[in-house]
Amino acid sequence: MKRIFLVGARACGKTTVARILAEKLGWSVVDVDEAIQSKTGKSIADMVEQEGWEAFRDVESGALAESCGAEKAVIATGGGMVLRSVNRILMRSSGLVVYLYVPASILAERLSKELIASQRPSLTGDSPVDEVEAVLAQREPLYRDAAHHIVNATHSPENVASTIVEIARNHRP
Ligand code: ADP
Ligand code: MG
Repeated sequence: MKRIFLVGARACGKTTVARILAEKLGWSVVDVDEAIQSKTGKSIADMVEQEGWEAFRDVESGALAESCGAEKAVIATGGGMVLRSVNRILMRSSGLVVYLYVPASILAERLSKELIASQRPSLTGDSPVDEVEAVLAQREPLYRDAAHHIVNATHSPENVASTIVEIARNHRP
């Protein structure tokens, strides 16, 4: 098993946990959203505003494919990565996929505390906090479909990363 993909809603902790997990394993970390922003020189919010969601989703699929070139890598995806079935299939066949599950109420709490929440583009027209419940309800089946394992990510990031290390140890592809 050469890579671990973290999937889940906005603010479930993909970026935070990926860093800790990579450190524990001695692996590298790829944050797909960050990779897209540094490659294009634009924030995701700007990109979506200027070019639309479909164009962003194309770039995102390209960045995912690129991330699969990395070995011994923990890959933090964006919340919408699971929307396209090709992405779900690619992740499942390229490594271990872990869904970081956090209930909507806690996601909303984290988003409302985040100083950079305004940089996360709205998905429905509502603010990221207001839309979290509806968006999670819509995407939850896709996260579950993509994932080999589901982890309760309401615990501390350190604790979540340790749980994933155990899962990775026992995983047989
Ligand atoms: P994602 O990459 O899934 O959108 P982030 O890692 O950026 O999520 O985390 C979103 C926010 O939630 C950040 O402010 C982060 O500090 C906080 N956070 C992440 N994981 C946890 C956790 N396990 N417990 C409490 N807060 C967390
Ligand atoms: Mg992130």
